[in-house]
Amino acid sequence: MNEAASSEAAFQTERSRMVERDLRRRGIRDARVLDAMRRVPRHRFVSPDLVHAAYADSPLPTMDGQTISQPYIVALMTQALALRGGEKVLELGTGSGYQAAVLAELGAEVWTVERSPTLFAAAASLLAALAYERVHPLHGDGTVGLPTQAPFDAILATGSLPRVPRGLLIQLRRPGVFVAPIGTRDDQRLLRIEYDPPHEREETLCVCRFVPLVGAAGWPPTAERDVEDGR
Ligand code: SAH
Repeated sequence: MNEAASSEAAFQTERSRMVERDLRRRGIRDARVLDAMRRVPRHRFVSPDLVHAAYADSPLPTMDGQTISQPYIVALMTQALALRGGEKVLELGTGSGYQAAVLAELGAEVWTVERSPTLFAAAASLLAALAYERVHPLHGDGTVGLPTQAPFDAILATGSLPRVPRGLLIQLRRPGVFVAPIGTRDDQRLLRIEYDPPHEREETLCVCRFVPLVGAAGWPPTAERDVEDGR
């Protein structure tokens, strides 16, 4: 085996271990989600100096002071969408592109929006290089949704919001699912909302702390952070 092939095999082993130890044993039961996370090469989505920690049980820093979520949180959010393949999904906050790749592995058609031009460009080129053709990366403010592609079967926010934007819920199919961390800048509840007007069922999946979504239906930019493209 050449060097590249043997390190890919080593990553595969680490990935299987992560799925067993940090996902399945902790209650992630959807076999399709576990399989998808066994396939996506997370080490390609982290910065080169953090490759050794790609399969650790923690979030990791990415460019522009942002983060790639902990694998367990990615699995929990993905499981909450109950995807069976063929759904249209909107993700707010592309970041590294890892979550979008996991959704695509489940057979979803994914529109994903990123505010930072640097992160958008890096994620778009990586997803293309890895041939994730079902992922459509866009640069802009995801908090307003993507009316031109609506309705979506599911909308997933991977950054926090101060409240559930009604403008996003109406871009869902009926029934549709909305998953997002809602709360203050420092503490949120990961909410799952089943949207089927006039019915709406809300469930809290866990307490959590995500980086903020800065935008029209998100947080205002602050002076010391979040201003990277607000100049
Ligand atoms: N899903 C990502 C992690 C996202 S972290 C992954 O798998 O790696 C949250 C991301 O949201 C950051 O990259 C941040 O730049 C981005 N963001 C912040 N405000 C946003 C907005 N209004 N619209 C789209 N993206 C936003």
